[in-house]
Amino acid sequence: PVPDPDAGRAVHAADRAHVFHSWSAQGQIDPLAVAGAEGSYFWDYEGKRYLDFASGLVFTNIGYQHPKVVAAIQEQAAKMSTFAPAFAVEARSEAARLIAERTPGDLDKIFFTNGGADAVEHAVRMARLHTGRPKVLSAYRSYHGGTQQAINLTGDPRRWASDTGTAGVVHFHAPHLYRSPFYATTEEQECERALAHLEQTLAYEGPQTIAAVILETIPGTAGIMMPPPGYLAGVREICDRHGIVFVLDEVMAGFGRTGTWFAADLFDVVPDLMTFAKGVNSGYVPLGGVAISAKIAATFDQRPYPGGLTYSGHPLACAAAVATIETMAEEGIVEHAAHLGETVIGPALRELAERHPSVGEVRGTGAFWALDLVRDRETREPLVPYNATGPANAPMADFAATAKRAGLWPFVNMNRTHVVPPCNIGEADLKEGLSALDQALTAADAHTVT
Ligand code: PLP
Repeated sequence: PVPDPDAGRAVHAADRAHVFHSWSAQGQIDPLAVAGAEGSYFWDYEGKRYLDFASGLVFTNIGYQHPKVVAAIQEQAAKMSTFAPAFAVEARSEAARLIAERTPGDLDKIFFTNGGADAVEHAVRMARLHTGRPKVLSAYRSYHGGTQQAINLTGDPRRWASDTGTAGVVHFHAPHLYRSPFYATTEEQECERALAHLEQTLAYEGPQTIAAVILETIPGTAGIMMPPPGYLAGVREICDRHGIVFVLDEVMAGFGRTGTWFAADLFDVVPDLMTFAKGVNSGYVPLGGVAISAKIAATFDQRPYPGGLTYSGHPLACAAAVATIETMAEEGIVEHAAHLGETVIGPALRELAERHPSVGEVRGTGAFWALDLVRDRETREPLVPYNATGPANAPMADFAATAKRAGLWPFVNMNRTHVVPPCNIGEADLKEGLSALDQALTAADAHTVT
């Protein structure tokens, strides 16, 4: 990186004057001006380089500026930059074929959207039309996107301000043994009680009013909670018994993140609808979608599907998806993520947990890990209170600032940091990041009671 502070100041000034940022008090933010990015790194205009342990917002599964994907976008731009959705277009057809080949079971039809939230909107619409039922069940501790229905389905505080028109959304608790909503002490108990709780919620809501149950296969932003063995199969069985559509949201967990093409592969479960985005093309061009089972696709064989987008299956985005999926297959990136999880990330994080009292729990798989940070390991009191801001959030702010000084860009949410680097990160880079994480955890330790 060649430093160019003047250019950086101009970028920053125009941003502050005119860019309105997501989820932020506009007067309280100071976005870093980014000059460039490559592989697992990006750098600012001062020439400071950061290792990106967040993969952007957990979407650069093949890192920044992968030459094969950049070339595919350039070629597609030269050939056919755009085309309307009602036509059959090579890049779109090919992307749909490659995705359908990898999605579980009979999820063989692909409806393309611009991103994850609209994929969720459409999955819910399909489920309602398929069943003729009004309501949808989703989990606390979840994130499904920022549009109206997707944010209502979400189970985190970002939902609260938009809870005016909740349109038939009911929340329930999914399993999470470390902070068990069911006072369980074993995975078996947690699983059994979580399934009983879902059954009970259904009984009180009226199962015949429920169109869909939507879950992140492994909840991402909310904390990378691995579902206990049997849970997802149990939800599948409950949905089947009540004629409810089972939707898995794999916007974050999909496309190699978990060391498998989809997180559902880890649990041998096939949903009726599956949403995806992010990793499908590493976010090089906005793209998301819904993978649709034969049964639900058949509903719309003779009856028009009442929904669409101008850019559904945009050729540039689809060409990027084709190149991303082919590159992931050619370069063994999914297997690499599985290998890193088993041999490097998992063992290293467990070793850090032994030395750092601020680490309450380590959980994850592949290139998808969370450290649950605590003030007190005995009581599991979180390092910062739920939804803390300002001074109450100082311990997490201190953690993040220390990581950044050490050249590591961390993913931080509430009292957690997630280790979610690109799925093709090299081992040496990964180890450099883990050593910066070690330093940042020392800063977090200073806020514990020990
Ligand atoms: N679903 C999940 C599981 C996500 O993690 C996200 C984004 O983080 C979304 C949906 C929303 O995707 P988008 O921001 O592309 O609309």
